[in-house]
Amino acid sequence: MGGDVVMNMVKNLEEGKNYKLFADNLFSSLNLVKQLKEKGIMYVGTVRENRLKGCKLKREKALSKEGRGAMDSKVDTDSNITVVRWYDNKKVDVISSFIGAEPVANVNRWDKKAKKKVEVHCPAVIRTYNKHMGGVDLLDSLTALSKSKIKTRRWYIYLFYHTINMIVVTSWLMCRRHCKLLQQSPVKLSDFQQLVADSLLMVERLPGRPAAGSPRLLQSSQIQERRPAIDVRLDRVDHMPMHGTRQWCKNPSCCQKSSLLCAKCNIHLCLNKERNCLRDYHTKKTL
Ligand SMILES: [Zn+2]
Ligand SMILES: [Zn+2]
Repeated sequence: MGGDVVMNMVKNLEEGKNYKLFADNLFSSLNLVKQLKEKGIMYVGTVRENRLKGCKLKREKALSKEGRGAMDSKVDTDSNITVVRWYDNKKVDVISSFIGAEPVANVNRWDKKAKKKVEVHCPAVIRTYNKHMGGVDLLDSLTALSKSKIKTRRWYIYLFYHTINMIVVTSWLMCRRHCKLLQQSPVKLSDFQQLVADSLLMVERLPGRPAAGSPRLLQSSQIQERRPAIDVRLDRVDHMPMHGTRQWCKNPSCCQKSSLLCAKCNIHLCLNKERNCLRDYHTKKTL
Protein backbone atom coordinates (compact mmCIF):
# COMPACT_ATOMS: atom_id res chain seq x y z
CA MET A 1 0.00 0.00 0.00
CA GLY A 2 2.85 2.39 0.83
CA GLY A 3 4.21 1.96 -2.67
CA ASP A 4 0.81 2.61 -4.27
CA VAL A 5 0.52 5.86 -2.34
CA VAL A 6 3.87 7.03 -3.67
CA MET A 7 3.10 6.02 -7.27
CA ASN A 8 -0.20 7.87 -7.02
CA MET A 9 1.46 11.01 -5.69
CA VAL A 10 4.10 11.15 -8.42
CA LYS A 11 1.76 10.46 -11.31
CA ASN A 12 1.56 14.12 -12.24
CA LEU A 13 5.33 14.62 -12.23
CA GLU A 14 6.88 14.99 -15.65
CA GLU A 15 8.87 11.92 -16.60
CA GLY A 16 12.60 11.85 -17.20
CA LYS A 17 13.38 14.99 -15.19
CA ASN A 18 15.49 13.16 -12.60
CA TYR A 19 13.37 14.23 -9.66
CA LYS A 20 14.72 12.96 -6.35
CA LEU A 21 12.28 11.51 -3.88
CA PHE A 22 12.90 11.02 -0.17
CA ALA A 23 10.74 8.83 2.02
CA ASP A 24 10.83 6.83 5.22
CA ASN A 25 10.52 3.09 5.66
CA LEU A 26 6.74 3.08 5.53
CA PHE A 27 6.98 3.49 1.76
CA SER A 28 10.25 1.93 0.59
CA SER A 29 10.53 -1.37 -1.24
CA LEU A 30 12.77 -2.66 -4.01
CA ASN A 31 9.81 -2.82 -6.38
CA LEU A 32 8.83 0.77 -5.74
CA VAL A 33 12.36 2.07 -6.30
CA LYS A 34 12.56 0.09 -9.55
CA GLN A 35 9.22 1.38 -10.82
CA LEU A 36 10.12 4.96 -9.99
CA LYS A 37 13.46 4.61 -11.71
CA GLU A 38 11.70 3.48 -14.87
CA LYS A 39 9.79 6.76 -14.75
CA GLY A 40 13.04 8.68 -14.29
CA ILE A 41 12.41 9.46 -10.63
CA MET A 42 15.33 8.86 -8.26
CA TYR A 43 14.80 7.63 -4.71
CA VAL A 44 16.41 7.55 -1.27
CA GLY A 45 14.61 6.04 1.67
CA THR A 46 15.04 3.97 4.79
CA VAL A 47 13.74 0.47 4.26
CA ARG A 48 12.50 -2.41 6.41
CA GLU A 49 14.56 -5.56 6.25
CA ASN A 50 11.61 -7.76 5.29
CA ARG A 51 11.10 -5.73 2.12
CA LEU A 52 14.59 -6.45 0.83
CA LYS A 53 13.78 -9.85 -0.63
CA GLY A 54 16.82 -11.89 0.25
CA CYS A 55 19.39 -9.14 -0.09
CA LYS A 56 22.08 -10.53 2.21
CA LEU A 57 23.82 -7.88 4.28
CA LYS A 58 26.10 -8.34 7.28
CA ARG A 59 24.06 -9.04 10.42
CA GLU A 60 23.62 -6.34 13.01
CA LYS A 61 25.69 -8.30 15.52
CA ALA A 62 28.67 -8.54 13.20
CA LEU A 63 28.49 -4.83 12.47
CA SER A 64 28.22 -3.92 16.14
CA LYS A 65 31.47 -5.81 16.76
CA GLU A 66 33.14 -3.62 14.17
CA GLY A 67 31.85 -0.61 16.10
CA ARG A 68 30.03 2.60 15.27
CA GLY A 69 30.23 3.61 11.64
CA ALA A 70 30.49 0.05 10.34
CA MET A 71 28.62 -0.54 7.10
CA ASP A 72 27.82 -3.02 4.38
CA SER A 73 26.25 -2.54 0.98
CA LYS A 74 24.90 -4.48 -1.98
CA VAL A 75 24.02 -3.39 -5.49
CA ASP A 76 21.29 -4.97 -7.61
CA THR A 77 23.22 -5.25 -10.86
CA ASP A 78 20.11 -5.37 -13.07
CA SER A 79 18.64 -2.12 -11.88
CA ASN A 80 21.71 -0.47 -10.31
CA ILE A 81 19.85 0.01 -7.04
CA THR A 82 21.94 0.09 -3.85
CA VAL A 83 21.08 -1.01 -0.37
CA VAL A 84 23.35 0.20 2.44
CA ARG A 85 23.26 -1.01 6.02
CA TRP A 86 24.91 1.38 8.46
CA TYR A 87 25.51 0.74 12.11
CA ASP A 88 25.35 3.75 14.41
CA ASN A 89 23.69 2.88 17.72
CA LYS A 90 21.62 0.35 15.87
CA LYS A 91 21.46 -0.68 12.25
CA VAL A 92 19.66 1.36 9.65
CA ASP A 93 18.97 0.20 6.10
CA VAL A 94 18.71 2.65 3.24
CA ILE A 95 17.80 2.03 -0.39
CA SER A 96 18.61 4.32 -3.28
CA SER A 97 18.64 4.46 -7.05
CA PHE A 98 21.14 7.29 -7.37
CA ILE A 99 23.59 7.22 -4.48
CA GLY A 100 25.48 4.53 -2.57
CA ALA A 101 27.90 4.23 0.32
CA GLU A 102 30.73 6.14 -1.37
CA PRO A 103 32.12 8.64 -0.64
CA VAL A 104 32.26 7.82 3.06
CA ALA A 105 32.85 10.83 5.29
CA ASN A 106 32.98 11.51 9.00
CA VAL A 107 29.97 12.96 10.79
CA ASN A 108 29.69 14.21 14.36
CA ARG A 109 27.61 11.97 16.60
CA TRP A 110 26.93 12.12 20.29
CA ASP A 111 28.74 9.50 22.38
CA LYS A 112 26.65 8.67 25.46
CA LYS A 113 29.49 7.06 27.41
CA ALA A 114 32.16 9.64 26.68
CA LYS A 115 29.53 12.44 26.92
CA LYS A 116 30.98 14.28 23.96
CA LYS A 117 30.70 14.36 20.19
CA VAL A 118 32.75 11.83 18.30
CA GLU A 119 33.50 11.38 14.62
CA VAL A 120 31.82 8.41 12.98
CA HIS A 121 32.20 7.07 9.43
CA CYS A 122 28.99 7.68 7.53
CA PRO A 123 28.02 6.57 4.01
CA ALA A 124 27.02 9.20 1.45
CA VAL A 125 23.46 7.86 1.13
CA ILE A 126 22.77 8.37 4.85
CA ARG A 127 24.11 11.91 4.80
CA THR A 128 21.91 12.73 1.81
CA TYR A 129 18.88 11.14 3.47
CA ASN A 130 19.38 13.07 6.71
CA LYS A 131 19.90 16.34 4.89
CA HIS A 132 16.65 16.11 2.95
CA MET A 133 14.38 14.36 5.44
CA GLY A 134 15.25 17.14 7.90
CA GLY A 135 12.61 19.24 6.15
CA VAL A 136 9.83 16.80 7.09
CA ASP A 137 10.86 16.86 10.75
CA LEU A 138 10.94 20.65 10.69
CA LEU A 139 7.47 20.84 9.15
CA ASP A 140 6.15 18.38 11.76
CA SER A 141 7.49 20.35 14.69
CA LEU A 142 6.30 23.70 13.30
CA THR A 143 2.77 22.48 12.59
CA ALA A 144 2.69 21.08 16.14
CA LEU A 145 3.24 24.66 17.40
CA SER A 146 0.00 25.90 15.93
CA LYS A 147 -2.20 22.86 16.15
CA SER A 148 -5.89 23.52 15.72
CA LYS A 149 -7.62 23.64 19.10
CA ILE A 150 -10.91 22.66 17.60
CA LYS A 151 -12.18 19.42 19.06
CA THR A 152 -14.27 17.30 16.81
CA ARG A 153 -15.47 13.75 16.69
CA ARG A 154 -15.34 13.75 12.94
CA TRP A 155 -11.73 12.88 12.10
CA TYR A 156 -11.82 14.34 8.60
CA ILE A 157 -12.45 17.82 9.98
CA TYR A 158 -9.25 17.54 11.93
CA LEU A 159 -7.51 16.43 8.74
CA PHE A 160 -8.84 19.50 6.98
CA TYR A 161 -7.49 21.91 9.59
CA HIS A 162 -4.19 20.07 9.68
CA THR A 163 -3.86 20.48 5.91
CA ILE A 164 -4.53 24.22 6.13
CA ASN A 165 -2.02 24.48 8.96
CA MET A 166 0.61 22.68 6.94
CA ILE A 167 0.04 24.96 3.96
CA VAL A 168 0.42 28.08 6.12
CA VAL A 169 3.61 26.79 7.74
CA THR A 170 5.10 25.84 4.36
CA SER A 171 4.22 29.27 2.97
CA TRP A 172 5.86 30.89 5.96
CA LEU A 173 9.03 28.87 5.36
CA MET A 174 9.04 30.14 1.77
CA CYS A 175 8.38 33.67 2.95
CA ARG A 176 11.31 33.38 5.37
CA ARG A 177 13.58 32.17 2.58
CA HIS A 178 12.43 35.09 0.46
CA CYS A 179 13.16 37.57 3.28
CA LYS A 180 16.65 36.11 3.62
CA LEU A 181 17.33 36.64 -0.08
CA LEU A 182 16.16 40.24 0.16
CA GLN A 183 18.06 40.65 3.44
CA GLN A 184 14.88 41.71 5.22
CA SER A 185 14.12 40.68 8.77
CA PRO A 186 11.74 37.70 8.71
CA VAL A 187 8.16 37.77 9.99
CA LYS A 188 7.31 35.63 13.03
CA LEU A 189 5.17 32.56 12.30
CA SER A 190 2.33 33.82 14.51
CA ASP A 191 2.34 37.23 12.78
CA PHE A 192 2.38 35.53 9.43
CA GLN A 193 -0.70 33.49 10.35
CA GLN A 194 -2.48 36.66 11.46
CA LEU A 195 -1.58 38.38 8.18
CA VAL A 196 -2.92 35.48 6.16
CA ALA A 197 -6.17 35.50 8.14
CA ASP A 198 -6.59 39.28 7.80
CA SER A 199 -5.85 39.21 4.11
CA LEU A 200 -8.26 36.38 3.41
CA LEU A 201 -11.01 38.20 5.26
CA MET A 202 -10.49 41.58 3.67
CA VAL A 203 -8.61 41.41 0.42
CA GLU A 204 -10.58 42.40 -2.69
CA ARG A 205 -13.73 42.54 -0.61
CA LEU A 206 -16.04 45.46 -0.29
CA PRO A 207 -16.03 47.14 3.10
CA GLY A 208 -18.81 46.40 5.55
CA ARG A 209 -19.87 43.22 3.85
CA PRO A 210 -18.56 40.11 5.57
CA ALA A 211 -17.87 37.13 3.32
CA ALA A 212 -20.47 34.41 3.68
CA GLY A 213 -19.68 32.13 6.59
CA SER A 214 -16.57 34.02 7.67
CA PRO A 215 -16.03 34.37 11.40
CA ARG A 216 -16.59 37.86 12.79
CA LEU A 217 -12.92 38.30 13.58
CA LEU A 218 -12.58 41.92 12.63
CA GLN A 219 -14.82 44.07 14.79
CA SER A 220 -14.48 47.74 13.85
CA SER A 221 -12.91 48.52 17.24
CA GLN A 222 -10.23 45.93 16.53
CA ILE A 223 -9.46 47.21 13.05
CA GLN A 224 -8.95 50.66 14.47
CA GLU A 225 -5.98 49.35 16.44
CA ARG A 226 -4.57 47.29 13.64
CA ARG A 227 -3.14 48.28 10.30
CA PRO A 228 -4.43 46.32 7.30
CA ALA A 229 -2.11 43.69 5.79
CA ILE A 230 -0.08 44.95 2.86
CA ASP A 231 -2.05 42.83 0.38
CA VAL A 232 -5.23 44.51 1.57
CA ARG A 233 -3.71 47.98 1.66
CA LEU A 234 -2.56 47.73 -1.97
CA ASP A 235 -5.45 45.74 -3.46
CA ARG A 236 -7.08 48.88 -4.94
CA VAL A 237 -10.58 47.65 -4.22
CA ASP A 238 -12.98 50.13 -2.65
CA HIS A 239 -10.66 52.22 -0.50
CA MET A 240 -13.20 55.02 -0.34
CA PRO A 241 -12.68 58.24 1.62
CA MET A 242 -15.10 58.88 4.47
CA HIS A 243 -15.61 61.81 6.84
CA GLY A 244 -15.03 61.19 10.52
CA THR A 245 -13.61 62.70 13.72
CA ARG A 246 -10.28 64.51 13.60
CA GLN A 247 -7.39 62.17 14.35
CA TRP A 248 -3.73 61.72 13.55
CA CYS A 249 -2.98 60.56 9.99
CA LYS A 250 -1.84 56.95 10.20
CA ASN A 251 0.69 57.19 7.37
CA PRO A 252 3.92 56.58 9.34
CA SER A 253 5.81 59.31 7.47
CA CYS A 254 3.13 61.93 8.25
CA CYS A 255 2.35 63.94 11.37
CA GLN A 256 -0.83 65.83 10.63
CA LYS A 257 -4.38 65.50 11.79
CA SER A 258 -7.15 64.62 9.42
CA SER A 259 -10.90 64.08 9.50
CA LEU A 260 -10.72 61.85 6.46
CA LEU A 261 -10.52 58.08 6.77
CA CYS A 262 -10.44 55.09 4.47
CA ALA A 263 -13.70 53.20 4.80
CA LYS A 264 -12.13 49.82 4.14
CA CYS A 265 -8.87 50.10 6.11
CA ASN A 266 -10.73 52.10 8.75
CA ILE A 267 -7.79 54.38 9.50
CA HIS A 268 -7.35 58.13 9.24
CA LEU A 269 -5.36 59.49 6.32
CA CYS A 270 -4.88 63.08 5.26
CA LEU A 271 -5.52 64.82 1.98
CA ASN A 272 -4.71 68.51 1.59
CA LYS A 273 -2.75 71.01 -0.50
CA GLU A 274 0.65 69.69 0.63
CA ARG A 275 0.07 65.99 1.13
CA ASN A 276 -1.98 63.13 -0.25
CA CYS A 277 -1.55 60.30 2.27
CA LEU A 278 -4.79 58.71 1.08
CA ARG A 279 -3.13 58.03 -2.27
CA ASP A 280 0.34 57.24 -0.89
CA TYR A 281 -0.98 54.78 1.66
CA HIS A 282 -2.80 52.76 -0.99
CA THR A 283 -0.12 52.82 -3.70
CA LYS A 284 3.33 52.82 -2.09
CA LYS A 285 4.81 49.51 -0.97
CA THR A 286 7.03 51.12 1.64
CA LEU A 287 5.69 54.06 3.56
ZN1 LIG B 1 -7.70 51.71 2.55
ZN1 LIG C 1 -0.94 62.21 6.23
